[in-house]
Amino acid sequence: MKIAIIGGGISGLSAAFRLERARRDGADVRYTLFEASDRLGGVLRTERVDGCLIEAGPDSFLSEKQSAAELCHELGIADQLVGSNDAHRRTYILVKGRLVEMPDGLQFMVPTKLMPTIMTPLFSWGTKLRMAREVFARPHTSNGDESAAAFVERHFGSEVVDRLADPLLAGVYGGSAERLSVRAVLPRFLDMEAKYGSLSRAMLAAMKKRPANGPRPVFTSMKDGMQQLVDAVAAQLDPDAIRTGARIKALAREHDEWVVLREYSTAYRFDRVILATPAYIAAGLLRTVEPRLAGVLGETAYSSSVTVALGYAAAGYDGRGGKREDGFGFLVPRSEGKRLLACTFVHNKFPHRAPEGQLLLRVFLGGSNDAEVLQIPDEEILRTVRVELRQILGLTAEPAFSRIYRWERSMAQYEVGHLERVAEIERLRAGAPGLALAGNAYRGIGVPDCIKSGMDAAVETLRQQPANA
Ligand SMILES: Cc1cc2nc3c(=O)[nH]c(=O)nc-3n(C[C@H](O)[C@H](O)[C@H](O)COP(=O)(O)OP(=O)(O)OC[C@H]3O[C@@H](n4cnc5c(N)ncnc54)[C@H](O)[C@@H]3O)c2cc1C
Repeated sequence: MKIAIIGGGISGLSAAFRLERARRDGADVRYTLFEASDRLGGVLRTERVDGCLIEAGPDSFLSEKQSAAELCHELGIADQLVGSNDAHRRTYILVKGRLVEMPDGLQFMVPTKLMPTIMTPLFSWGTKLRMAREVFARPHTSNGDESAAAFVERHFGSEVVDRLADPLLAGVYGGSAERLSVRAVLPRFLDMEAKYGSLSRAMLAAMKKRPANGPRPVFTSMKDGMQQLVDAVAAQLDPDAIRTGARIKALAREHDEWVVLREYSTAYRFDRVILATPAYIAAGLLRTVEPRLAGVLGETAYSSSVTVALGYAAAGYDGRGGKREDGFGFLVPRSEGKRLLACTFVHNKFPHRAPEGQLLLRVFLGGSNDAEVLQIPDEEILRTVRVELRQILGLTAEPAFSRIYRWERSMAQYEVGHLERVAEIERLRAGAPGLALAGNAYRGIGVPDCIKSGMDAAVETLRQQPANA
């Protein structure tokens, strides 16, 4: 059976890895992975500058999602996994121009500890009262979907949407709480609401049930950065099966075969196709052969983002009031009127990211509310970032280096109605023989979700017998 994989990000690579394992185990399978750019990994990309390890895209994955660590075990690189420095796990929120620490006990946006919630300057007294009343909320099951903002506002009020839900979701999805679907992005909270009513009570009950095998770091990365995962997968694949610099233009079907059309009119024939590109690319490729599926795929919204890494020599920064900011970094609510969405203090978050005493910051811009940032030239982005870092951190030092990375339309937006759209995509895809889809547009945006989507697509493809067998 001949299988084409289109897209060499972590989703397509994971599909290829599973097929390679099947091939080595004796399955009659040959695969070819087509990647448009000249490198594998998609948005996973690590660079080293002046002794600092810079992540251009994702810097880690959630430890509680198993697929990424499992893949590392299969690859024999589990000893390369590193946990975040959770002793430093403090996050700040910019409130009226000042950084306020997120109170202890806040689980995502749900308060679980009384005193820190009462004492924090993060919320007004009105919001604190509302949080206290939330404990008495009655179980409630929503009929349809709603925005994450509407859901959170129902529980804790609009200030929590502005200061927590929106910036936190912007950090994960590059999206806005007003448009993201609660069913798709906060499904656990919906279950809690249905069972307990109060999210605070539900969270406390869930915390009690947690296994007592010691706290696991919240985030996991690789010693040499996320690129290490990409390189380890690529090293296990058949080199003849990898085509980089190979942009696919269209797909067609002839009899029982898929015809994969590359630039310059080259055509290849396959029994199966795994499409591991963003949904809008998949839509373009399928336009003539599966027009209805292409139509629904094309409806998936995407946001763009820019990440900027800045390195500072040890002597260059004393911090506001002589004190360096500690913790993992800060989030900026939209109401603060800044271009920065978030900033990670990389030197604190993971070990060995910057030489001792040096500062490595990574800031995020863009997201669904600021698509224009992609059009701004590098010098202007850098100027804006430096102005805002000066305002927020009192950081006036000249960075020893900076790097800017642009990610155009790379984050799928799970907007209200997302799960219905995915169900429709699934239904239409099932009617297209030998076609599988993988990537961040369907059932999870994070690296582990994408690994799982690639693996699942490969397993499903192997399970289907060739139509002409
Ligand atoms: C800035 C940023 C930060 C992130 N941070 C985190 C994080 O910290 N933790 C986390 O878990 N997740 C994070 N994510 C999300 C996660 O990294 C992505 O969802 C995931 O890596 C997407 O992988 P993918 O393979 O599906 O897509 P991509 O990485 O986009 O790969 C798709 C590939 O398809 C190729 N392609 C496109 N068109 C064609 C064509 N016509 N022919 C052939 N090839 C084509 C592209 O060149 C690309 O290589 C982040 C994402 C971004 C952008």
